[in-house]
Amino acid sequence: MKFSQTFVRTGKEPPAHEVAKNARLLAQAGYIHKEMAGAYAFLPLGFMVLDNIVNIIREEMNRLGGEEMQLTALQRPDVWEATGRWPDNELEVWFKSQLLAGGEVGLAATHEEPLTALMREYIHSYRDLPAYPYQFQTKFRNELRAKSGIMRGREFLMKDLYSFSASWQQHGEFYEKAKQAYTYVFDRLGIGDDTFYTYADGGSFSQFSHEYQTLTEAGEDTIYLSREGGFAINEEVYTDDVLGELGVTRDDMEEVTAAEVANIFPLGTKFSDSLDLTFTDQDGAEQPVIMGSYGIGPGRVMGVLVEKFSDEKGIVWPQAVAPAQVHLAALKGGEAQADSVYAQLQENGIRVLYDDRDESPGSKLADADLMGLPTRLVCSQKTAQSEQVEVTHRASGQTEMLPVAQVTKKFG
Ligand code: ATP
Ligand code: MG
Repeated sequence: MKFSQTFVRTGKEPPAHEVAKNARLLAQAGYIHKEMAGAYAFLPLGFMVLDNIVNIIREEMNRLGGEEMQLTALQRPDVWEATGRWPDNELEVWFKSQLLAGGEVGLAATHEEPLTALMREYIHSYRDLPAYPYQFQTKFRNELRAKSGIMRGREFLMKDLYSFSASWQQHGEFYEKAKQAYTYVFDRLGIGDDTFYTYADGGSFSQFSHEYQTLTEAGEDTIYLSREGGFAINEEVYTDDVLGELGVTRDDMEEVTAAEVANIFPLGTKFSDSLDLTFTDQDGAEQPVIMGSYGIGPGRVMGVLVEKFSDEKGIVWPQAVAPAQVHLAALKGGEAQADSVYAQLQENGIRVLYDDRDESPGSKLADADLMGLPTRLVCSQKTAQSEQVEVTHRASGQTEMLPVAQVTKKFG
């Protein structure tokens, strides 16, 4: 990628209209564009980051046995009427519209209803179970407040997986495996140490749902954390009964601010009962399917990463999600050396952003800090003469000189 060839521009200042740190930095660094409150475009480099996050989640969902598919964003009322969630006072975040041909449609805020109805065509017998379809799709929610940048959109990407099981035992086994998969996801994203399994409200069907909450002052949730136990309790279920059940006391718990990055939910037969999703068991008896849902917001995760991994100069991307590994800057007198280093890196399949623009050294270095790629390589007159390049690690700030001949070996 050559900087001179992308339309992306960095800003001298963060946009005045943004309050959330993630949106201020991402917009200034040229990763996102605010269309309106709660709706962001992902620019080419921002889209690469989002895609890296998506691919980590996708790999773990596939390993878990998930089957990727794509449901529709347009929703028909009848399936939602069947569960009582079509009226706006039942699901207040609905976006709806009128069809010219007559009738109403909704824009998907979630997908339990249409998927449960769809699965009626594929689940008939215990032999058809379990099933684990999932998707990455845009959700639309008419959120009252959208002030947290990409952490709370009115339009946002969600990975949602749904489990369809023949028994509570089959459900429970998968639920445990899903927890493990989520742990892998957050470890790979670099937030494993600060992301806690959290007991939260289970809705009408089960006592608890389980959230994954990442510690950050930018979060909107208050949770009570047992560092020793490695779990937390959301304030919505923080009662003496729950504490007792989990074998902790108030003294063990630390009040912290966190962002919900994921939520997994035992749904029981809530949706299968309302929408008649049944199967015939081994004894020939008709049974409702046991369901679960497993959500995670890649955009919210990206916002959380920026909130956590940034400093006064800009973003510090974790290696696994960075849009490229290397930010190569050509300063005056180092152009020819930079061209050859760029060619070498590219030949070896190393992702590199090459700042070949006609800009001042100061603004090139400031942009490298702002954009936050893990490693910066600088080629200047001085480095050209010594046949070395200057390597700076964004996270530690440490700098070393590296012979040009060793550059690809270092990053290969
Ligand atoms: P919140 O309580 O923060 O409004 P939620 O509990 O309504 O979220 P879920 O329905 O559990 O959200 O959605 C699953 C995941 O999707 C969340 O854990 C979060 O990562 C993401 N998500 C939810 N709402 C948004 C949003 N408005 N913008 C971006 N991501 C979101
Ligand atoms: Mg939730």
